[in-house]
Amino acid sequence: MARANAIYYATRDPFADFTTSPEISQVFGEIIGLWAAVTWSLLGSPNPVSLVEAGPGRGTLMADALRAIRRAAPDFAAALSVHLIETSPRLRVTQARVVPDATWHSDLATVPAQPMILLANEFLDALPIRQFVRRGTGWTERFVDAGSWTEQPADPADVPAGRNATEGGVVEVNEPARGFVSAVAARFRRHVGAALFLDYGPERSAAGDSLQALADKRPIDPLSPPGSADLTAHVDFADLAVIARSESASVQGPVPQGPFLAALGLFQRTERLARNRSPEQAVALVEAARRLAEPAAMGQIFKVMAVCSAACPPLPGLA
Ligand code: SAH
Repeated sequence: MARANAIYYATRDPFADFTTSPEISQVFGEIIGLWAAVTWSLLGSPNPVSLVEAGPGRGTLMADALRAIRRAAPDFAAALSVHLIETSPRLRVTQARVVPDATWHSDLATVPAQPMILLANEFLDALPIRQFVRRGTGWTERFVDAGSWTEQPADPADVPAGRNATEGGVVEVNEPARGFVSAVAARFRRHVGAALFLDYGPERSAAGDSLQALADKRPIDPLSPPGSADLTAHVDFADLAVIARSESASVQGPVPQGPFLAALGLFQRTERLARNRSPEQAVALVEAARRLAEPAAMGQIFKVMAVCSAACPPLPGLA
């Protein structure tokens, strides 16, 4: 899976296959930017501070966030430097068009060791999972090999502790997501900061196969040729919260995306923006906001969780 997704992000335009929140409405990135500004002041307005995004895609969220920050929070704008964590050379080029003054990184390790606010929308779900299958008293690990599933005996120590499944059932673990959250949380021991993770997933850990392949915005067989589809799995927020707390960070949420965005003023901002637009554009803006927040669309299945330095005050939208 790791290889399949690396090929995919390097060779295709992922946004032909799925639509993410920042691409649905500019208000999404704007209010995430204002979240970052309020969080920065709640953390004591550290200066200098890094504004970091992991997996920025087309750069839309960061561009919208920076526009709102420059308008509403000039002190934060003056204190921050922008860092983008992105492995795809193609997407780096796209990002540079809309966020020209960023610095790019392949992982968190090279981001300056100083206070940071980190944003990650649909980043963790793009990282490769491992799948274990209950077989009798033991476990196998499931792989895709030349277009079909194969299973090999697994080391029980690789299966996440405390998880179980009935015969033939699947348990998933996202080791790179765990590693990323753990590294973020460890940084907050030395420097204040907060990280906001927005992603697709349940509130509680659940057994079950959540691997999905999307091509042209429709689910297809995950066994399609490597690189032809976007592979994603549900993010296990409860698992990641345990990892963050084990590094002494505090965790707020997860809460569903709908109430989070509504508390941050999604509908008020949308209405204000719509006033200066044509009637058709105004309708489209309101529909986009609804799509982000309504339970039947993206408001319930998408969750928002913050990882923050110890003694972190309650952050906007997560109380
Ligand atoms: N946040 C964007 C894009 C989500 S798609 C949005 O909401 O629209 C996932 C993003 O993560 C892409 O930019 C992809 O290239 C990047 N990515 C995938 N694996 C990565 C890794 N291991 N390290 C850094 N970025 C990665």
